[in-house]
Amino acid sequence: MKRLISAADVQAAAKRGERLVVDDNTIVTAQAADEARELGVELVRGDASAAVATPAPAPAAAPAPVEPAAASAAEPAAEPATGSGTCPVLTYAREHEPVLSAEEMERVIGDAIDKGVWTEGQLAELFGSALGGASARTCAPLTVPVGVSGRHIHLSQADLDALFGAGHELTCAKELSQPGQFAAKETVTLAGPKGVIERVRVLGPVRPETQVEILSGDTFKLGVKAPVRLSGDLAGTPGVTVIGPAGSVALTHGVMVAARHIHMSCSEAAERGLHDGQTVSIVVAGERGGRLDNVIVRANDASALDFHIDTEEANALGLKNGSVAEIVK
Ligand SMILES: [Zn+2]
Repeated sequence: MKRLISAADVQAAAKRGERLVVDDNTIVTAQAADEARELGVELVRGDASAAVATPAPAPAAAPAPVEPAAASAAEPAAEPATGSGTCPVLTYAREHEPVLSAEEMERVIGDAIDKGVWTEGQLAELFGSALGGASARTCAPLTVPVGVSGRHIHLSQADLDALFGAGHELTCAKELSQPGQFAAKETVTLAGPKGVIERVRVLGPVRPETQVEILSGDTFKLGVKAPVRLSGDLAGTPGVTVIGPAGSVALTHGVMVAARHIHMSCSEAAERGLHDGQTVSIVVAGERGGRLDNVIVRANDASALDFHIDTEEANALGLKNGSVAEIVK
């Protein structure tokens, strides 16, 4: 096993007036060599392990001083120690002591990472489950199921009446991931200055205000410059004409491209160290995998965990309903 002589070892030897024995398995640090020269501690070549096993008095003919490998060839040989003949030979067997202190080991490992000798992954392998387990706990991915929305419309009761007839009630075709929300059987037509989109799904239940959520590509089809917005943030949005079987409504505002967002309950947010309104990123694996930034957390106790994106975003990343994505803070 290799044995290390550090500057501290040399200082200790100097205090005791001792010499240090080095052999082929001894590593003398550059600092230790400097210290030895300065403090006059002799580094003598010999069998360090034998010297430990039999701490005999120093041989009559002292071995020649050894120039540590770290010293420059241009420098003079180690100065002869004064009164070396009478000093007991000091060795550090340290059978029960580590070669490096915890502090030294940390520094050496840190340097190795900095210099690219080891990656953190290799270190995790090296130190086994203790380190791996700890990092797995702190780095466990936060996953979320994906919910994909197509273009759709939420209607106020007044607009529902105008489009489908007075007192009309929506018919549930399919329940959605968020509690109480559903896709209705009813559809409408959207008409903008540049074009028309038919069979736009109505989502229930009715809301206080009508809101139209279209895809980015639809803004060109309709000729309506809809901004990216979170649901309910309708100020300054453009309008569109909505046509139903019983009549039409010319909206003055309410058209948006839905901002991607993650629904979750307050406890689900707390468990993940997230809060309502926080912006996170989403990372997706797979053939069209990628990363989406500016994803807004919407936490309240009426919500269930679901990452909502529209069909364009889903197609771009190869996602569908029920796919799993990872939240990155
Ligand atoms: Zn949503």
